[in-house]
Amino acid sequence: MTTMRVVKDLMLGLGARGGTLVVKNGHVIDPASAVDAAHDVLIVDGVVRDIGPRLAAPEQATVVDATGKIVCPGFIDIHVHLREPGFEYKETIATGTRAAAAGGFTAVCCMANTHPVNDNRSITDYILARAKTEGVVRVYPIGAVTRNLKGEELSELAELAEAGCVGYSDDGKPVMNAGLYRRAMEYTLPFGAPIISHAEDAHLSTGGAMNEGVVSTELGIAGAPAAAEDIMVARDIVLAELTGAHVHLAHLSTAGSVRLVRDAKARGLRVTAEAAPHHLLLTEDAVRTWDPNAKMNPPLRTKRDTEALLEGLADGTIDCVATDHAPHALSEKEGEFDRAAFGIVGLETAVAVLLDRLVRPGRLPLKTLVARLTADPARLLNLPLGSLVPGRPGDVTILDLHRELTIDPARFHSRSRNTPFGGWTVTGGPWMTIVNGHVISSEGGFAPLRTKGATPPSELPRPNLPPGQGSAGKAGARTESM
Ligand SMILES: [Zn+2]
Repeated sequence: MTTMRVVKDLMLGLGARGGTLVVKNGHVIDPASAVDAAHDVLIVDGVVRDIGPRLAAPEQATVVDATGKIVCPGFIDIHVHLREPGFEYKETIATGTRAAAAGGFTAVCCMANTHPVNDNRSITDYILARAKTEGVVRVYPIGAVTRNLKGEELSELAELAEAGCVGYSDDGKPVMNAGLYRRAMEYTLPFGAPIISHAEDAHLSTGGAMNEGVVSTELGIAGAPAAAEDIMVARDIVLAELTGAHVHLAHLSTAGSVRLVRDAKARGLRVTAEAAPHHLLLTEDAVRTWDPNAKMNPPLRTKRDTEALLEGLADGTIDCVATDHAPHALSEKEGEFDRAAFGIVGLETAVAVLLDRLVRPGRLPLKTLVARLTADPARLLNLPLGSLVPGRPGDVTILDLHRELTIDPARFHSRSRNTPFGGWTVTGGPWMTIVNGHVISSEGGFAPLRTKGATPPSELPRPNLPPGQGSAGKAGARTESM
């Protein structure tokens, strides 16, 4: 049976077959268990049953032929804005999780800046319920640190952990009140879920639409200095030291931040960090085209910063890659640069651009990139994912390092098109995404959607995730680790 036949059958809803799937003939890279070898992977009833050379395929098993491909644990993106509830014109849980699957991600963590804000159990419950009926990958909500993201009083932190939030963040906004932030860290310590910082001194960055520097001066655009980030990274590291809490620093963009995190880790503090593909690959020079898709927060910085980020990603100072997938409608991203919304989509481009621009030229080992997308993000959010050892959920991302494609935003599964990578020709990308033992996406494709609006979920295979899967069990059941 050929692979494409398998995929087609699954899309027609014929994929149950006793719930057994074998990925054969691929090269497995599983950094968590130090596997880097020609192995097959057997998944039974949504769980990895066996991994090893030349496994026998049980009768009735769905066989995926991964000859020439790289087989990895499912990729995890811990920083995504799914926009639902409240901003469904930008993205929904249905479209955002399809974008994730098409881009090779099997699990995403969604930020709290929805409307209403995810600052209490009812919103978390809503997100998880929608994810269960509409989603095609795992969805783990992140709860707000402060009520309505106002930075004034703490949200229902214990309730959020109980409901299934795996971290806390006011992402999109910094928590400027250090006293309040300290209390949040102390209060959430027993839940084992990190505080995720959008590190920006809002007073220093006020009015900045891009990085402050030579280019902003030339273009006459107000800039936000790197110091606005560095100062808050430093503050949050100091607060992590004061409280003993695990502080995760989102979307690092400056060389100064990398240096501060490296120092904090050397001192044994519970500090982790992420970097986004656009900060690794693009500089402020992209703003010279006046393309609003070069506008995000934190802004694109200098070559020196991208080099420091890459060095940090390679040596483990930066724990993981996260996209900061931030969909916006066209109307919000066109017109004057100064007025355009901050942020870009990233789920459908991240893996391809990183493979092409970092791995292919030998700037980052493939194994390191896979670790930063699997075992590392799973570890820092205590998610029971990120490895293909028997007993783990049957989530698999298969890469084709030779696939050539031109990034075409018109073909995105996301509702939004705001990307600076449109038109890039890249070699290498996700080839197949398997969630809970079901093929969800192959070569970026799904069964055709019926309408442009609401996605009919019944047309697509869903992984049948158990209820409350997003919660990773009760807070207390999670393993206490960084
Ligand atoms: Zn942010």
